[in-house]
Amino acid sequence: MIQIKNLSCGYNNVSIIKNISIDIKEGSFVGIIGKNGAGKTTLLKSIAGLLKPYCGNIYFDGSDIYEMKKNLFAKKLSFMPQNMPIDFPFTVKDFIMFGRFPYMNIFKYASTNDYEIVEKVMTFTETKSFADRNILELSGGERQKVLIAQNLVQQTDVITFDEPTSHLDIGSQASIFKLLRTLNQKHKKTIITTIHDLNTAGEFCSHLILIDNGSVFSSGTTTEVLNYKDIEAVYNTTVVVKTNPVSNKPVVIPVFIEK
Ligand code: ADP
Repeated sequence: MIQIKNLSCGYNNVSIIKNISIDIKEGSFVGIIGKNGAGKTTLLKSIAGLLKPYCGNIYFDGSDIYEMKKNLFAKKLSFMPQNMPIDFPFTVKDFIMFGRFPYMNIFKYASTNDYEIVEKVMTFTETKSFADRNILELSGGERQKVLIAQNLVQQTDVITFDEPTSHLDIGSQASIFKLLRTLNQKHKKTIITTIHDLNTAGEFCSHLILIDNGSVFSSGTTTEVLNYKDIEAVYNTTVVVKTNPVSNKPVVIPVFIEK
Protein backbone atom coordinates (compact mmCIF):
# COMPACT_ATOMS: atom_id res chain seq x y z
CA MET A 1 0.00 0.00 0.00
CA ILE A 2 2.77 2.43 0.99
CA GLN A 3 6.21 1.98 -0.48
CA ILE A 4 9.11 4.03 0.81
CA LYS A 5 12.05 3.90 -1.55
CA ASN A 6 15.51 5.22 -0.68
CA LEU A 7 14.01 8.03 1.37
CA SER A 8 16.23 10.78 2.75
CA CYS A 9 14.64 13.82 4.36
CA GLY A 10 15.22 16.30 7.15
CA TYR A 11 15.43 20.00 7.85
CA ASN A 12 17.55 22.86 6.44
CA ASN A 13 19.23 20.53 3.93
CA VAL A 14 20.46 18.22 6.68
CA SER A 15 19.28 14.62 6.26
CA ILE A 16 17.78 13.16 9.43
CA ILE A 17 16.27 10.15 7.66
CA LYS A 18 18.96 8.45 5.63
CA ASN A 19 18.14 6.17 2.72
CA ILE A 20 15.21 4.26 4.17
CA SER A 21 13.32 1.70 2.08
CA ILE A 22 10.30 -0.02 3.56
CA ASP A 23 6.89 -1.38 2.51
CA ILE A 24 3.78 -0.93 4.61
CA LYS A 25 1.05 -3.43 3.88
CA GLU A 26 -2.68 -2.68 3.83
CA GLY A 27 -4.33 -3.63 7.12
CA SER A 28 -1.17 -3.55 9.20
CA PHE A 29 -0.72 -1.72 12.50
CA VAL A 30 2.79 -0.34 12.26
CA GLY A 31 4.72 1.14 15.17
CA ILE A 32 7.78 3.30 14.55
CA ILE A 33 10.06 2.93 17.57
CA GLY A 34 13.54 4.14 18.53
CA LYS A 35 15.37 6.41 20.95
CA ASN A 36 14.55 10.09 21.42
CA GLY A 37 15.84 12.02 18.41
CA ALA A 38 16.23 8.89 16.25
CA GLY A 39 14.01 10.39 13.53
CA LYS A 40 10.63 8.71 14.19
CA THR A 41 8.54 11.87 13.85
CA THR A 42 10.56 13.03 10.86
CA LEU A 43 9.89 9.75 9.06
CA LEU A 44 6.18 9.87 9.93
CA LYS A 45 5.85 13.47 8.71
CA SER A 46 7.39 12.50 5.41
CA ILE A 47 4.96 9.57 5.04
CA ALA A 48 2.12 11.98 5.84
CA GLY A 49 3.12 14.26 2.96
CA LEU A 50 4.43 17.04 5.20
CA LEU A 51 8.16 16.80 4.63
CA LYS A 52 9.36 16.57 1.05
CA PRO A 53 12.14 14.03 0.47
CA TYR A 54 15.62 15.26 -0.44
CA CYS A 55 16.06 11.93 -2.22
CA GLY A 56 13.84 8.94 -2.87
CA ASN A 57 10.09 8.55 -3.12
CA ILE A 58 7.03 7.54 -1.16
CA TYR A 59 4.29 5.79 -3.14
CA PHE A 60 0.67 5.30 -2.11
CA ASP A 61 -0.92 2.55 -4.21
CA GLY A 62 1.71 3.24 -6.86
CA SER A 63 1.38 7.05 -6.99
CA ASP A 64 4.09 9.35 -5.66
CA ILE A 65 2.42 11.13 -2.72
CA TYR A 66 4.31 14.36 -3.38
CA GLU A 67 2.85 14.48 -6.89
CA MET A 68 -0.73 13.84 -5.73
CA LYS A 69 -3.24 16.68 -5.28
CA LYS A 70 -3.32 17.68 -1.59
CA ASN A 71 -7.10 17.28 -1.36
CA LEU A 72 -6.98 13.80 -2.88
CA PHE A 73 -4.18 12.69 -0.54
CA ALA A 74 -6.16 14.05 2.45
CA LYS A 75 -8.90 11.55 1.58
CA LYS A 76 -6.40 8.69 1.64
CA LEU A 77 -4.22 9.37 4.67
CA SER A 78 -4.76 11.43 7.81
CA PHE A 79 -2.14 12.62 10.29
CA MET A 80 -2.47 13.40 13.97
CA PRO A 81 0.45 15.51 15.22
CA GLN A 82 1.90 15.33 18.72
CA ASN A 83 1.03 18.18 21.11
CA MET A 84 -1.21 19.89 18.59
CA PRO A 85 -1.54 23.49 19.72
CA ILE A 86 -5.20 24.45 20.12
CA ASP A 87 -5.71 27.96 21.41
CA PHE A 88 -9.27 28.76 20.35
CA PRO A 89 -12.22 27.63 22.50
CA PHE A 90 -13.98 25.54 19.86
CA THR A 91 -16.72 23.18 20.95
CA VAL A 92 -15.72 19.56 20.63
CA LYS A 93 -18.21 18.86 17.83
CA ASP A 94 -17.12 21.89 15.77
CA PHE A 95 -13.50 20.90 16.17
CA ILE A 96 -14.24 17.36 14.97
CA MET A 97 -16.15 18.76 11.98
CA PHE A 98 -12.94 20.46 10.73
CA GLY A 99 -11.79 16.99 9.71
CA ARG A 100 -14.49 17.05 7.00
CA PHE A 101 -12.86 20.02 5.22
CA PRO A 102 -11.36 17.97 2.36
CA TYR A 103 -14.89 16.85 1.46
CA MET A 104 -16.65 20.22 1.61
CA ASN A 105 -17.36 22.47 -1.37
CA ILE A 106 -15.57 25.80 -1.78
CA PHE A 107 -18.03 27.49 0.59
CA LYS A 108 -17.10 24.96 3.31
CA TYR A 109 -20.68 24.34 4.43
CA ALA A 110 -21.24 21.08 6.27
CA SER A 111 -23.81 18.82 4.62
CA THR A 112 -26.25 16.42 6.28
CA ASN A 113 -23.81 13.66 5.39
CA ASP A 114 -20.98 15.52 7.19
CA TYR A 115 -23.14 15.84 10.34
CA GLU A 116 -24.06 12.15 10.19
CA ILE A 117 -20.42 11.11 9.92
CA VAL A 118 -19.42 13.34 12.85
CA GLU A 119 -22.24 11.84 14.96
CA LYS A 120 -21.16 8.30 14.14
CA VAL A 121 -17.51 8.98 14.91
CA MET A 122 -18.38 10.71 18.20
CA THR A 123 -20.29 7.60 19.28
CA PHE A 124 -17.37 5.36 18.31
CA THR A 125 -14.76 7.49 20.08
CA GLU A 126 -16.99 8.06 23.15
CA THR A 127 -16.78 11.83 22.74
CA LYS A 128 -20.52 12.44 22.43
CA SER A 129 -21.05 13.07 26.13
CA PHE A 130 -18.86 16.19 25.93
CA ALA A 131 -19.72 17.26 22.36
CA ASP A 132 -20.75 20.77 23.44
CA ARG A 133 -17.86 21.41 25.79
CA ASN A 134 -15.00 23.78 25.16
CA ILE A 135 -12.04 21.80 23.82
CA LEU A 136 -9.61 23.77 26.00
CA GLU A 137 -11.28 22.44 29.14
CA LEU A 138 -10.90 18.71 28.48
CA SER A 139 -8.60 16.25 30.25
CA GLY A 140 -5.58 14.92 28.33
CA GLY A 141 -7.32 11.61 27.57
CA GLU A 142 -10.54 13.30 26.39
CA ARG A 143 -8.56 15.70 24.21
CA GLN A 144 -6.70 12.85 22.51
CA LYS A 145 -10.01 11.12 21.74
CA VAL A 146 -11.29 14.33 20.15
CA LEU A 147 -8.15 14.61 18.02
CA ILE A 148 -8.58 10.99 16.95
CA ALA A 149 -12.23 11.69 16.13
CA GLN A 150 -11.19 14.62 13.93
CA ASN A 151 -8.88 12.26 12.06
CA LEU A 152 -11.57 9.60 11.70
CA VAL A 153 -14.15 11.88 10.11
CA GLN A 154 -11.60 12.37 7.34
CA GLN A 155 -12.50 8.75 6.43
CA THR A 156 -9.10 7.71 5.18
CA ASP A 157 -7.90 4.13 4.80
CA VAL A 158 -4.60 4.99 6.45
CA ILE A 159 -4.40 6.86 9.75
CA THR A 160 -1.09 8.09 11.14
CA PHE A 161 -0.40 9.23 14.68
CA ASP A 162 2.60 10.90 16.25
CA GLU A 163 2.80 9.61 19.84
CA PRO A 164 -0.97 9.48 20.42
CA THR A 165 -0.61 8.79 24.13
CA SER A 166 2.30 10.97 25.21
CA HIS A 167 1.63 12.45 28.67
CA LEU A 168 -1.33 10.12 29.33
CA ASP A 169 -1.68 7.84 32.35
CA ILE A 170 -1.57 4.09 31.71
CA GLY A 171 -5.36 3.71 31.86
CA SER A 172 -5.95 6.43 29.23
CA GLN A 173 -3.06 5.01 27.21
CA ALA A 174 -4.71 1.58 27.14
CA SER A 175 -8.10 3.03 26.24
CA ILE A 176 -6.65 4.98 23.27
CA PHE A 177 -4.73 1.98 21.99
CA LYS A 178 -7.79 -0.28 22.33
CA LEU A 179 -9.64 2.24 20.17
CA LEU A 180 -6.85 2.08 17.59
CA ARG A 181 -6.93 -1.73 17.72
CA THR A 182 -10.68 -1.71 16.97
CA LEU A 183 -10.08 0.67 14.06
CA ASN A 184 -7.42 -1.64 12.72
CA GLN A 185 -9.09 -5.00 13.27
CA LYS A 186 -12.78 -4.21 12.89
CA HIS A 187 -12.78 -1.19 10.60
CA LYS A 188 -9.79 -2.43 8.55
CA LYS A 189 -7.82 0.82 8.82
CA THR A 190 -4.10 0.72 8.25
CA ILE A 191 -2.41 2.42 11.19
CA ILE A 192 1.06 3.92 11.38
CA THR A 193 2.15 5.44 14.67
CA THR A 194 5.31 6.57 16.35
CA ILE A 195 5.38 5.09 19.82
CA HIS A 196 7.61 5.54 22.79
CA ASP A 197 6.52 2.71 25.04
CA LEU A 198 7.87 -0.65 23.88
CA ASN A 199 5.29 -2.68 25.80
CA THR A 200 2.39 -0.83 24.21
CA ALA A 201 4.12 -1.28 20.86
CA GLY A 202 4.55 -5.00 21.56
CA GLU A 203 0.95 -5.48 22.62
CA PHE A 204 -0.89 -3.51 19.95
CA CYS A 205 1.22 -3.31 16.79
CA SER A 206 1.44 -6.03 14.17
CA HIS A 207 4.72 -4.73 12.75
CA LEU A 208 7.51 -2.50 14.04
CA ILE A 209 10.15 -0.34 12.40
CA LEU A 210 13.09 0.24 14.75
CA ILE A 211 14.84 3.46 13.78
CA ASP A 212 18.36 4.22 14.90
CA ASN A 213 20.09 7.45 13.93
CA GLY A 214 17.83 7.98 10.92
CA SER A 215 18.19 4.46 9.49
CA VAL A 216 16.19 1.27 9.85
CA PHE A 217 17.95 -0.91 12.44
CA SER A 218 15.38 -3.68 12.00
CA SER A 219 11.80 -4.18 10.88
CA GLY A 220 9.32 -7.02 10.95
CA THR A 221 6.70 -8.49 13.24
CA THR A 222 6.68 -7.24 16.84
CA THR A 223 8.16 -10.52 18.05
CA GLU A 224 10.98 -10.31 15.52
CA VAL A 225 11.89 -6.72 16.34
CA LEU A 226 11.49 -6.82 20.13
CA ASN A 227 14.36 -9.18 20.86
CA TYR A 228 16.68 -8.31 23.71
CA LYS A 229 19.85 -8.13 21.62
CA ASP A 230 18.54 -5.49 19.22
CA ILE A 231 16.78 -3.50 21.94
CA GLU A 232 19.91 -3.46 24.11
CA ALA A 233 22.07 -2.45 21.14
CA VAL A 234 19.82 0.46 20.13
CA TYR A 235 18.73 1.74 23.55
CA ASN A 236 22.07 1.06 25.22
CA THR A 237 20.54 -0.49 28.33
CA THR A 238 19.91 -4.00 29.64
CA VAL A 239 16.44 -5.50 29.11
CA VAL A 240 14.65 -8.80 29.61
CA VAL A 241 12.05 -9.74 27.01
CA LYS A 242 9.21 -11.97 28.21
CA THR A 243 5.97 -13.12 26.64
CA ASN A 244 2.61 -11.98 27.98
CA PRO A 245 0.95 -15.33 28.78
CA VAL A 246 -2.51 -14.03 27.90
CA SER A 247 -1.88 -12.22 24.62
CA ASN A 248 1.32 -14.05 23.64
CA LYS A 249 2.86 -10.67 22.82
CA PRO A 250 6.35 -9.54 23.87
CA VAL A 251 6.90 -7.57 27.07
CA VAL A 252 10.14 -5.58 27.44
CA ILE A 253 11.41 -5.07 31.00
CA PRO A 254 14.35 -2.70 31.55
CA VAL A 255 16.81 -4.08 34.08
CA PHE A 256 19.06 -1.51 35.68
CA ILE A 257 22.50 -2.96 36.26
CA GLU A 258 25.45 -0.98 37.59
CA LYS A 259 28.60 -1.96 35.72
P1 ADP B 1 12.14 11.38 17.35
O1 ADP B 1 10.72 11.50 16.87
O2 ADP B 1 12.72 10.02 17.08
O3 ADP B 1 12.34 11.77 18.78
P2 ADP B 1 12.61 13.59 15.53
O4 ADP B 1 12.25 13.08 14.20
O5 ADP B 1 11.62 14.46 16.24
O6 ADP B 1 13.04 12.36 16.48
O7 ADP B 1 13.96 14.40 15.45
C1 ADP B 1 15.10 13.87 14.81
C2 ADP B 1 16.14 14.97 14.72
O8 ADP B 1 15.63 16.02 13.89
C3 ADP B 1 16.50 15.60 16.05
O9 ADP B 1 17.90 15.80 16.07
C4 ADP B 1 15.78 16.92 16.04
O10 ADP B 1 16.48 17.89 16.76
C5 ADP B 1 15.74 17.26 14.57
N1 ADP B 1 14.54 18.08 14.23
C6 ADP B 1 13.27 17.74 14.48
N2 ADP B 1 12.41 18.70 14.04
C7 ADP B 1 13.18 19.68 13.51
C8 ADP B 1 12.91 20.94 12.88
N3 ADP B 1 11.65 21.38 12.71
N4 ADP B 1 13.96 21.67 12.45
C9 ADP B 1 15.23 21.23 12.60
N5 ADP B 1 15.56 20.04 13.18
C10 ADP B 1 14.56 19.27 13.64
